[in-house]
Formats: sequence, C-alpha cells, structure tokens
Amino acid sequence: VLEANNARESLYVVSLYAANYFANELWTGEQGRAIGLSYFKERGFREDIIKKFELGYSPDQWDALILSAASAGHKEEYLEKTGLAIRNEKGKVYDRFRGRVMFPIHNFTGRVIGFGGRTLKTDKNVPKYVNSPESDIYHKSNVLYGLYQAKKAIRDLDNCYLVEGYADVLSVHQANIENVVASSGTSLTIEQIRLIGRFTQNVTILYDGDAAGIKASLRGLDMILEEGLNVKVVNFPDGHDPDSYMHKVGAGAFKIYIENNRKDFILYKADTLLKEAGTDPIKRAGIIRDIVESIAKIPDDIKASVFIRECSHLLQVEERMLMTELNKIRSAKF
Ligand code: ATP
Ligand code: MN
Ligand code: MN
Ligand code: MN
Repeated sequence: VLEANNARESLYVVSLYAANYFANELWTGEQGRAIGLSYFKERGFREDIIKKFELGYSPDQWDALILSAASAGHKEEYLEKTGLAIRNEKGKVYDRFRGRVMFPIHNFTGRVIGFGGRTLKTDKNVPKYVNSPESDIYHKSNVLYGLYQAKKAIRDLDNCYLVEGYADVLSVHQANIENVVASSGTSLTIEQIRLIGRFTQNVTILYDGDAAGIKASLRGLDMILEEGLNVKVVNFPDGHDPDSYMHKVGAGAFKIYIENNRKDFILYKADTLLKEAGTDPIKRAGIIRDIVESIAKIPDDIKASVFIRECSHLLQVEERMLMTELNKIRSAKF
C-alpha cells in the first residue's frame, strides 16, 4: 500500500498520482485524446503549455480514478480526504471529476494540492467548473492558480497580472506574459494578496470586462491598496476576458492594448464611476469621496499624498479639500 509517513503527506502523494493519471488519460486515453486534447487544441492552447500546466482529462465514468488508484495501491481514504472521491449517504464512493478537462492546482513550491475541472458540455444545468473542496492540503483562500509557473517571471518583471480564470492564465502565459496568476474559484483574499507580496509589490488587475468583473476589480483594488501594494487595472471591452480578447486580437495587439489601457486605480475608478454617474453633480461628488476612501486605505502617507495630488488634477478639485476629506475618513477609522 502506498502510504506516506503522515496523513498530510499521503494527501500530496494521492494528488500527484491523480494529476499524472489525468494527464496520461489526456495524452493516451481514447476519450481523453478525442475529447479532452482536441478541446484544448480547439481553444488554441499549444502542446507545450498543456504540458507545462500538467493539464489532464477525467474519463466520463463513475470510478475511473478510484479503480486506477486502487490498482496502484492507494488507499481510498486519501482520495476521499482530498475530495477526489465522494462518498454518498448510502456509502457508495464515486469520482468527483468525470468527463472534464482537468487543471491541477499547485502550491507555489509546485506540489499538486487540488484540481479544477471544466465541463465539455454546453448544458446550462451542468456547472461549468467544479473545484476540489478544502482539504488538509488545499486552502483555496491561500492559493493562486499559476503562481508556481509564474513566480520567477513575477520577480524578474516586478509585476503580477491578476486574472479571473484558468483559461485566462493559460492564454496570457502562452503569449509569453508569464507573470500571471488567477484567484480561481474564490473572490480575491487578503492571504492571496500577501502571497503576491512575497514576489512583487506591483499588481495589475485583468478581470473580465463584464459587470461582475468590474465590481470585483473595484473591490480587489481596495484590498490591494490596504495591503500596501501598488495596483493598476486594465478593463477589457465588450465583456471580453483576457483569454477571449487574446483570441480576438492576437498576442501582439493584446500586449499593446494592455500597455495603452493600464490605468492607475484613481483613473480607473474615476473613469468607471463617472461613466455610471453621468452629469449628476451629487453623484459626481460621491465619486470624489469614493476615490478618497480608496486613497485613505494606503498605509504610506507620502504615497497617499501623491495620489491626492493626482486626484485633484484629474477631477479638478482643490487638493486642500481632498486632504481634509482624507483626514476625516482616517480619523473616523480610529
Ligand atoms: P471559460 O473561458 O473556460 O469558459 P472562464 O474562466 O472565462 O471560463 P468565468 O465564468 O469567467 O469562466 O469564471 C472565472 C473563474 O471562476 C473560472 O475559471 C473558475 O475558476 C471559476 N468558476 C466559474 N464558474 C464556476 C463554478 N460554477 N463553480 C466554481 N468555480 C467557477
Ligand atoms: Mn466572468
Ligand atoms: Mn471569464
Ligand atoms: Mn473565459
């Protein structure tokens, strides 16, 4: 029986086994090749990227992984504890991931700790993504998808691109923008921001250009500022996400778009909120306050005052008035 000398280690061992199993199914399984590999290729992912991210395929049957793991000597207990297998009320055990393309999730040292699986069906009743549940080795609020593959580039380039989904990470990485991670499966957490902070102080948010993505960008930028990191935002047109926009315009135009549309948080908030407010003067006043509230989250006073100056220029409001507002917000916090 394959068992490590402690329970946590056994969870890592079985997760690695599963990742290898899913990858093997993708490259050599009949179903995997015909359905999974061709799906990735139709989406435009190159073989080197599919291999680099160790993507896989889970066969469309109830116990494919369970049987394979058992024959290799893995205890079912550990499949259950990682959530790879599920036990129902009647005590029957079945695979969580069935008929899905698989995205192994690594911790930043490169160990497999969980999975995301995407359905190939277009049926609206089937959830598009299924993710591993929390386990002793997988705490989703502490993990960034792609960080293991991105960390060197993040350090070297001193910037981290933050996207929403697995496909966004793959597409952006494939375009040689390797400093990219996703907060997949959860909204951005403080722990994830601190994790980025170990590699760089600069974050650029590239969320989906839909209402949910804009809302998440506004929330994310405040959290990033509060952790003392610098943040910029790129908004994609017509509801595109980085992956779909990459496919629409190609890698060269994508990079140019990012360069030309990278906004610091003040400009991003001003542009986004002013669009919503129109010419209503009361709403516009509310926006100024809203932006000062973001500035008030910056722990560094000197940085904050630089942004107050920028805000004053951009919105044509006296710096002194913004400073008064800033101090009001700050003293209210204590
Ligand atoms: P794709 O391009 O493969 O269609 P996406 O990544 O653009 O998918 P979004 O709907 O934008 O999908 O969701 C972003 C991310 O949120 C996904 O990559 C996934 O990590 C997570 N997610 C989406 N739907 C679900 C779901 N039903 N359950 C759990 N997580 C989900
Ligand atoms: Mn979305
Ligand atoms: Mn998306
Ligand atoms: Mn997408």
